[in-house]
Amino acid sequence: MGELATLFAPERVAVIGATDREGSVGRAITSNLLADFAGDVVAVNPTKESVLGLDCVDEVSEAVPVDAAVVVVPPDLVLDVLRDAGDAGITNVVVITAGFGETGSEGAARERELQEIAAEYDMNVVGPNSLGIINTTTGLNATFAPQNATPGNMSFLSQSGAFVTAVLDWAADRSVGFKDVVSLGNKAVLDESDFVREWGEDPDTDVILGYIEDVTDGREFIRTAREVAQETPIVLVKSGRTEAGATAAASHTGALAGSEQAYETGLAQAGVVRVTTVEELFDFAGILAGQPLPDDENVAIVTNAGGPGVMATDAVGDSDLSLASFTDATLDRLVESLPEEANVYNPVDVIGDADIDRFERGIDAVLADENVDSVVVLSCPTATIDFDDLADATVRLQAEHGKPVAVTLMGGESTRSAQDRLSEAGIPAYFDPARAVESLDALWDYAEIRRREFAEPTTFDVDRERARDVLESAVRRDTNRLGVEAMELLDAYGIPTPAGRIVEDPQEARRVAEDLGERVVMKLVSPDILHKSDIGGVEVGVPVPAVKDTYEDLVARARNYQPDAEVLGVQVQEQLDVDDGVETIVGVNRDPQFGPLLMFGLGGIFVEVLEDTSFRVAPIGERDAREMVDEIDAVPLLRGARGREPVDEGAVVETIQRLSQLVTDFPAILELDVNPLVATGEGVSAVDLRLTIDQEQL
Ligand code: ADP
Ligand code: MG
Repeated sequence: MGELATLFAPERVAVIGATDREGSVGRAITSNLLADFAGDVVAVNPTKESVLGLDCVDEVSEAVPVDAAVVVVPPDLVLDVLRDAGDAGITNVVVITAGFGETGSEGAARERELQEIAAEYDMNVVGPNSLGIINTTTGLNATFAPQNATPGNMSFLSQSGAFVTAVLDWAADRSVGFKDVVSLGNKAVLDESDFVREWGEDPDTDVILGYIEDVTDGREFIRTAREVAQETPIVLVKSGRTEAGATAAASHTGALAGSEQAYETGLAQAGVVRVTTVEELFDFAGILAGQPLPDDENVAIVTNAGGPGVMATDAVGDSDLSLASFTDATLDRLVESLPEEANVYNPVDVIGDADIDRFERGIDAVLADENVDSVVVLSCPTATIDFDDLADATVRLQAEHGKPVAVTLMGGESTRSAQDRLSEAGIPAYFDPARAVESLDALWDYAEIRRREFAEPTTFDVDRERARDVLESAVRRDTNRLGVEAMELLDAYGIPTPAGRIVEDPQEARRVAEDLGERVVMKLVSPDILHKSDIGGVEVGVPVPAVKDTYEDLVARARNYQPDAEVLGVQVQEQLDVDDGVETIVGVNRDPQFGPLLMFGLGGIFVEVLEDTSFRVAPIGERDAREMVDEIDAVPLLRGARGREPVDEGAVVETIQRLSQLVTDFPAILELDVNPLVATGEGVSAVDLRLTIDQEQL
């Protein structure tokens, strides 16, 4: 067990601020603690003799030894109480009291001080502004929720206390049980990564599920979660997906939301099964907690109703699953055991007059098939089938074959007891055929997450000092924006660039051009002009004799566009045969939570129009870089669609990794675009560069 084991399973708990005042949070906590907890409870309150039958002590120092303290005192007393607890050697504290970071600058200052105290005493602090924690093994209910949790094998974290109360209430009359529950509150000290790590080491937690509004430290979360997810599935709702939602989340907990793109990418890299609705959260967590993982993607459907069978089949089409095709042996078995009108192909229709024996033979036959990895059992109410019988048969057959099963019972009250029998055995039952398929799909998603080996980021031999010099030159010029004048940065990191130079007068331009070929490319170099082509700042195919005039033209265009634009000169560049290649883009954007987010797509105008892009949080290894290329819809263009020569994909993949290393080495780089990175059969060339830096971080 992990570092937080004692927090969840203490032997002696102090309630600091215990009270019996009607309707108070302190009373609710104290009485919840007294209800089922196997250990001792000590009430701390200097103004009371006793609370709810417990004798009170005046100070926490009189309550020791204490394994965990729950703090419910008014906000202005919390810090003193924490110091007292620290002095008394208490290292696990749950701060229920609100009035911290969520309330404004005074509260935020108090929260910072709380963090300092926690660091000083090396204290595990939940909250502040937490609903509390639950551990069903010891019966610890240190929350003020009206409903306790029933025991189970899922552990649940939530950034919203209200959502915890709602879930507990909802779960009470379903067989949804929990091992640990934590309301994270403001996450001043302990955050989602800490609990994910803890539960990853907990043999009694089979599934981790949660509701989060933000991730405190995205990179730490990725590191922790992807390791835990190899053993224990993590299913999360991350709210604030939309702009409106993100704004609402910010005003709710003061969460500083990163971009949705970064969350989508980061949570996927962390191996999290991300869901968008509460229904999915419990559907997926439930099936992950109750069913084995499928070996592959092939699903069989056994139904007594044609229409719903088609609905289930459509849902398979929408998912990552495939409809299994049966072996001949299975088909023979089905032909033998089903009436002539039945459909023996997938979806298997045992038809409306099927009794339990026929249904069972159908389920048994497909479960036994080596081409089948998971099964949906689907039944509508008929005169010949009893849902309880079907539930019992399904439970037995599932256990016998050890493959995952989800059930659809398309009825109301008549399905209740069958549903209970199924869920007791860990088999989910739904009304909607699509939900059964989607749950099996989530199992398959998780099975794939488990299979992923994580590749260590590749480290290339680069010239870091030279790169630093280039960035520092920007500081000397007191600018945050760099363009092609910083191409040396790419060179230092081993990324090929076209031959060329930046010159400051027409004669020199001509001399450089003569060495580069008959025709050259000329570009305006100015930190004030980000999109050079937009103002006519790029001339492609300039014949050497026209170079001098073109120089003057380019500078004049800059002056025209913005008279005070800083012009560093003109870049004279080797002309590449772009018609023979593909213009791609590799970009980086720094996210407040996850750090550098790498982007790959088709370059030039396509990137904005098509939004055909893929993302990863840096640093990444070769496999991720390869997947980034693979994930864009236009990848056939790189692989030689329509008789074109395939580009050197390996060079593209390597460039993505080298840029990943660059932005990881230099946190000062806030944004960076190589657009285009021209890819041909011979390799790649970074033709253009644009970046923004934070001088403070150099
Ligand atoms: P910007 O993006 O600021 O407009 P770029 O340097 O990306 O400027 O140039 C714009 C376009 O010009 C590129 O997308 C590419 O099609 C073409 N181009 C730029 N440099 C070269 C080059 N060296 N060889 C061939 N084509 C080039
Ligand atoms: Mg460009």
